[in-house]
Amino acid sequence: MTDTTLTPTTVSSPDSAKARHRAEALDVLNHTFGYEAFRADQAAIVETLIDGNNALVLMPTGGGKSLCYQIPALVRQGTGVVVSPLIALMQDQVDALRQQGVNAAFLNSTLSSEESRTIENSLLSGELDILYVAPERLLSDYTLGLLQRARLSLFAIDEAHCVSQWGHDFRPEYQSLSLLAEEFPQVPRVALTATADQRTRDEIIHNLRLEDAPHFIAGFDRPNIRYTISESKQGRDALWDFLETEHPADAGIVYCLSRKKVEETAKWLAGKGRHALAYHAGMDSSIRQIHQQQFLRQEGVIMVATVAFGMGIDKPDVRFVAHLNLPRSVESYYQETGRAGRDGYAANAWMHYGLQDVIQLSQMLQQSGAEDLQKRVEQQKLQAMLGLAELCTCRRVALLEYFGEQGHAACGNCDNCLDPPVTWDGTVAAQKALSCVYRTGQRFGVGYLIDVLLGNSNDRLVKMGHHKVSTFGIGTELGNAEWRSVFRQLLAMGYLYADPDQYNTLQLTEMSRPILRGEQQVEMRRPVATKRRSTKKSAAAADVSDTVLWEALRACRSMLASDAGVPPYVVFHDRTLVEMAERQPQTLEELSTVGGVGDTKLSRYGEEFLTVIREHLAHRTHP
Ligand code: ADP
Ligand code: ZN
Repeated sequence: MTDTTLTPTTVSSPDSAKARHRAEALDVLNHTFGYEAFRADQAAIVETLIDGNNALVLMPTGGGKSLCYQIPALVRQGTGVVVSPLIALMQDQVDALRQQGVNAAFLNSTLSSEESRTIENSLLSGELDILYVAPERLLSDYTLGLLQRARLSLFAIDEAHCVSQWGHDFRPEYQSLSLLAEEFPQVPRVALTATADQRTRDEIIHNLRLEDAPHFIAGFDRPNIRYTISESKQGRDALWDFLETEHPADAGIVYCLSRKKVEETAKWLAGKGRHALAYHAGMDSSIRQIHQQQFLRQEGVIMVATVAFGMGIDKPDVRFVAHLNLPRSVESYYQETGRAGRDGYAANAWMHYGLQDVIQLSQMLQQSGAEDLQKRVEQQKLQAMLGLAELCTCRRVALLEYFGEQGHAACGNCDNCLDPPVTWDGTVAAQKALSCVYRTGQRFGVGYLIDVLLGNSNDRLVKMGHHKVSTFGIGTELGNAEWRSVFRQLLAMGYLYADPDQYNTLQLTEMSRPILRGEQQVEMRRPVATKRRSTKKSAAAADVSDTVLWEALRACRSMLASDAGVPPYVVFHDRTLVEMAERQPQTLEELSTVGGVGDTKLSRYGEEFLTVIREHLAHRTHP
């Protein structure tokens, strides 16, 4: 190394600037957010942005994306602008940051012009740390002009997959975000998403001009989520069994395909004594809002919803996500189930589906009015989802492979690992079913075909002369439910097609022939009732040995949260309360070392929680 005349004391080298940035970022992590160390890629992402570079961040839900832009926004000069599509959630995000002493605000259509003006002024005067903006608002000439006059630390484009036309949350305004690169070339941009497939990734890079940005791609596994997909029983009975055994008092989400089913299911659950609420796009928006608030702010609420609910919901203690219908793609399934267990505690992704789902979904696709190419893409996505549902091997391995991660071992935490399904050689059954479709002229639905196979004569059947076809009564070795399972699997595997233009009558496909000719075997899943597992307590409580203290801490949290008008987890997460209950800190200093206790929360709430702990200990020693 050659000697230079410059010494670090006269001019700071890029290296020392980096070291300083690192130290500042860590300081914010420790004191503002109360966390000890960065997770995985977080440190590298934060440094990249603080140094003024762009970045693309792909991380699963719960991975910790928010800190990746919040910390650089706090360390760099100026205001960090967060673009987010869901305005309903901005209030909570901003509340949570304010609880931590961060000066955050949002601009969206819910504000009065006076409120907007106040926020705009604090942006221009440089007081704001973080500003959330809806994309359509950001793109208005007025807001762009405003931002030009402000000092900006970065742009964070959250839910960046909304840029993708192929994705499931396409938002046209997102594509116009390309102008950020042109209008604000000096301001670093970070795009963040939990959706990973290559096509979406490419579209984000292209649209947001991130060609030169480093990519930070985290592993997509969510090991604390247990995947279960069941097709036995009626949906409701199966759901009830699942809730009773696994989640007698937990908060969770139940997804249904139609609005009608949402309302019926919510009512039915409420009738069974559960605190269940409905949510779908057809409801009055004020009621929707109230339901969402209750779900976020009260404990143990079940939200029964269409997929209109959930994007951006960052409630950490959702213990289960149940699907009463098949989602339309693996991407949707992964995103929706990903809303469970963000706090890292055990959570369930449970799904029930049946023959009717397969038929109904392809019908919806056919009638969607989408262009042919798009329909084909969606049909392929649905087929992949069906493949996952009918899978006999580890679900997690298949999910991760779908997102491009190879080489994982069987997980031991999905239904197929825990109760390996029984398969059987369904070739003969398939032949009987397919030839029954053929013999009756490809003009009938499943119920009718099963009657023919079982030899159940009825008026309609006799009138059609189908009591005389060769397949009449040739299927008595299986029962009605088993035949439904056979038909479902044949549809799912593409050996049959339900024609939506012909009342969903079943028709043969190109793929049916080799089976009918005996050239191909068909392996099938045998319907099995999933075993009941032992009842467990709510996942967080299960970690606490002193349940009396745990309940006392929770009560304290509820009280403080309702005083502040925020959800309980905004005061402290379960994780933080668990650590308090286990370590029982007795001074503010000890309390400050508990994960999730930053400086602002320590001074705001510290004494209250210490009092609860001290009283508890006093009672224990002097009963
Ligand atoms: P995402 O947006 O990726 O779904 P979040 O940013 O909401 O995830 O983070 C998920 C949870 O993990 C939050 O409760 C957050 O406070 C917590 N978290 C994030 N980073 C850390 C960290 N470095 N240490 C401890 N907890 C963290
Ligand atoms: Zn598995």
